[in-house]
Amino acid sequence: MMLRYDKPLPEITPESKGFWEGCRRHELLIQKCRVCGALRHYPRAMCPNCGSWEIEWVKVSGRGKVYSWMVTHRTFHHGFAGDVPYASVIVELEEGVRLMTEVVDVKSEELYIGMPVEVVFEDVTPEITLPKFKKAA
Ligand SMILES: [Zn+2]
Repeated sequence: MMLRYDKPLPEITPESKGFWEGCRRHELLIQKCRVCGALRHYPRAMCPNCGSWEIEWVKVSGRGKVYSWMVTHRTFHHGFAGDVPYASVIVELEEGVRLMTEVVDVKSEELYIGMPVEVVFEDVTPEITLPKFKKAA
């Protein structure tokens, strides 16, 4: 656990609370619609597929592949100053949903579309654990 974390932290909302609680337990949870079964991420109150407000949280594999990324060379927040250049990566999970995240052990120039990755969890404060990814074996 880091003693001091200088980067912005996510805001836990009623819709995202289940996601962040799962991360704290080192489980990747994704919202699932109880009516049509569609998975969705980011967390939100209403199913974009059928309009239902009935949700449950399901634990997913944590395995996926790099879908896309963007490299930041000049940061707008002092907390990231030591990280530039860094890649913000969209990972597509095996279950089909995509997350904006970070691949921790791969330099941005080594990323490629389709790179297999798996989730790792970084406890950054007592309340917040961030899901990140590493290159899969
Ligand atoms: Zn639905």
